[in-house]
Amino acid sequence: MEILEGKSVFGGFAHGHVLCLRHDRPAVADDRCADDGEAVVEAGRFHRACDEVVDTLHALMTKGGSDEEVAILEAQSLMVRDPEFTRLVEDLILKEHHNAAHAVECAAHRFIATLSSIDSPVTRENISDIQDIASRIISVLTKEDFIMALPDEASIIIADTVLPSELLAWDSRQVAALCLDGGGQASHVSILARALGIPCVIGLGDASHRAHSGQWAALDAFEGRLYLDPDDGIVSKVGSLMEEHRAEKKEMEEDAVLPAITLDGVRVELECNIEGLDFVDMALRNGAEGVGLFRTEFLLMRDHVYSEDEQVAVYLAAARAFRGRGPVTIRTYDMGGDKVVKDLTRKEENPVLGWRAVRFCMDRKDIFRTQLRAVLRASAQEKVRLMFPMVSGCDELDDVLLFFESVKEGCRKEGIAFDEHMEVGTMIEVPSAAVISDILARKVDFFSVGTNDLTQYTIAVDRGNEKTAGLYKEYHPAMLRLLDMTARNAASAGIGLAMCGEMAGDPLALPLVLGLGYRTLSMNPASLLEARHLIRHINMADCQALAKKALDMQSCRDMERLLEGFHAEIGNN
Ligand code: PEP
Ligand code: MG
Repeated sequence: MEILEGKSVFGGFAHGHVLCLRHDRPAVADDRCADDGEAVVEAGRFHRACDEVVDTLHALMTKGGSDEEVAILEAQSLMVRDPEFTRLVEDLILKEHHNAAHAVECAAHRFIATLSSIDSPVTRENISDIQDIASRIISVLTKEDFIMALPDEASIIIADTVLPSELLAWDSRQVAALCLDGGGQASHVSILARALGIPCVIGLGDASHRAHSGQWAALDAFEGRLYLDPDDGIVSKVGSLMEEHRAEKKEMEEDAVLPAITLDGVRVELECNIEGLDFVDMALRNGAEGVGLFRTEFLLMRDHVYSEDEQVAVYLAAARAFRGRGPVTIRTYDMGGDKVVKDLTRKEENPVLGWRAVRFCMDRKDIFRTQLRAVLRASAQEKVRLMFPMVSGCDELDDVLLFFESVKEGCRKEGIAFDEHMEVGTMIEVPSAAVISDILARKVDFFSVGTNDLTQYTIAVDRGNEKTAGLYKEYHPAMLRLLDMTARNAASAGIGLAMCGEMAGDPLALPLVLGLGYRTLSMNPASLLEARHLIRHINMADCQALAKKALDMQSCRDMERLLEGFHAEIGNN
């Protein structure tokens, strides 16, 4: 048994078969050869692919590098020619008519399965070498990138990384848990994993190299612990923790109909963040009182760019689902950063500081106009609100609002009905916007604070980078001042105030957020149950006292102690 430690992104338990995904390794379809003749051609392709891989490895060797690197490349080029491996692949092609790429994949799995039974560091290295050479041969044979199709049985996915678009393309029921080598707490994959309720651990180092598909694993995602080839004791421990967790969740689900009211009678609105209609069911089940953030850019990451009519249909469907509960806040496209949209965004040196969100939209007014028209048309029939992301200052907000006015004018001229009083807000997720929130508050109906980006930009820590994950603190004293300032400015201007970053659903930070004056919290649907439970067990007066103390804290360490102390006390009461 091997134990790997990482950071918990979303708690839960799982045990089952591993599906290993590495982005340097393409997945392969099992299309069979039609007859013996085709199989012979496939075998020829396999041999030529091996030649090409050996040539590449030799070219890499002559490029130089450390003795160690050269030795690895040399060993790998010998492995490509390994007679046993070659014979197995040939048999799979010639006798069983597998296509060449799939035969390589199967042969690699068989070799790895045999080696896995021997527990030694050398064997582990051999396994990752086999994975590497198989990937190289398969890439030559397939010449394409594509999203891995998951097996029907729910698997524990262990991957170097996963793209948000990949996670969206999978059926979440097939993902028992997600374990990533890297990743950040506030990266969009982490956010999606939470939103989908998938137990998830990040920062597991070289887990995707150590593990292999088909292996058995167990996961305690609360503790961030992954067990490869777990012994019986661990499997039964994880199994019973899983049962306990299921029972607790069921109990909290029964409370989903109860309002979020603190012990001293203060009502808190609990809304949800959604990335598409597939997230609505869970949000409703968990008692969401509206949508505080609809991340519409995820519509762009699906199969095509949604037309105006298609967008109207999606926005109306979401709004109808929440009719009688609360409005749906449609955030205009926030692509860029780690939200790559094929054919629209481009590679940039500094993507998070680059062509994102309203910056993109104001350059691509054709796309922006279509979205704004769709929101306006939806507003004629259901309660929706509009929100702009990544606004950094007055000029940007003025330009965006002016463009929005021109789109409205266009609709009026065309006789298109819309709600003239639809609320329009801006996110506060760039420090400059928080600092001048007194000015911005005069221009919009509400603020929604995006703590994911606000943290990243305030303390200069990439939200998705595992190397700096330990520095990413939403409750940094500088953040607290910005949150406090924004809340005060919203209150003075008499506009709405919400928080929709992950901090809103973080049980440790939640009492502090309430104490700072935030009464509308929007979070991923999976966090709603615990948030409601917590709110119903605390006093607002205590939260306010906590916030007062927190604003005097100098360091993150002190802050952490303060918040943990508060949390422990709730647990004791
Ligand atoms: C945020 O930045 O906090 C936010 C809610 O937006 P996103 O996570 O989509 O960037
Ligand atoms: Mg953001």
